[in-house]
Amino acid sequence: MSLHTSNPRSAPRAIVLSGPTAVGKTTVVKKLRAAHPELWISVSWTTRPPRPREVDGEHYHFVDDETFDRMVERGEFLEWAVVHGRAKYGTPRAPVEAALAQGRSVLLEIDLQGARQVRKSLPNALYVFLAPPSWDELVRRLVGRGTESEAERERRLRTAREELAAESEFDITLVNTDVEQVCRKLVDLMNSAHLTHTSGSPSTRPEA
Ligand code: 5GP
Repeated sequence: MSLHTSNPRSAPRAIVLSGPTAVGKTTVVKKLRAAHPELWISVSWTTRPPRPREVDGEHYHFVDDETFDRMVERGEFLEWAVVHGRAKYGTPRAPVEAALAQGRSVLLEIDLQGARQVRKSLPNALYVFLAPPSWDELVRRLVGRGTESEAERERRLRTAREELAAESEFDITLVNTDVEQVCRKLVDLMNSAHLTHTSGSPSTRPEA
């Protein structure tokens, strides 16, 4: 992966990781958290119930609709969105701003709607699109996960088709063929002292 060298920017900065549903964003972030506790990774708030083995405050802050709506009213989210037409998800503003002010690079793992919104609050962020190796592979991963009903899978596939079409809005693309490799690239991006990018810079997608 090569990044353009004009228009230099200095760390710290926010890295916004987005991509279609089931592409493996959660797996990537889970591995990063385990292997790199020094990295600052935002913990989102959500109104969806926890899945088995999800820990409140670690994977998400799980709250009811009323609590979430009060936080929206108070402007406590950098961005928030209803994802898959079901639950609300939001990135807390204060901890992200505090981490950036302390000189840390931060990672946000959010859906496409969130990535679009956060451009206004974090114009200097690096926008990273996590892409599947192919559409068939994305479908296989979605079905293989087995945690959603048939109707839910259909809804997620519809969303995924729209999300895939948004790749060109991002600064770089990482193809999730190998989770370890994606993690290494994200760590490099977060640790780079002088990250540089221009919109539409090269993707790491292999040539067709
Ligand atoms: P899940 O419920 O499977 O953990 O996540 C569903 C989707 O919500 C994923 O695509 C994930 O990227 C997205 N998501 C997680 N946290 C946030 C957030 O704070 N804001 C937005 N906009 N999306 C989020």
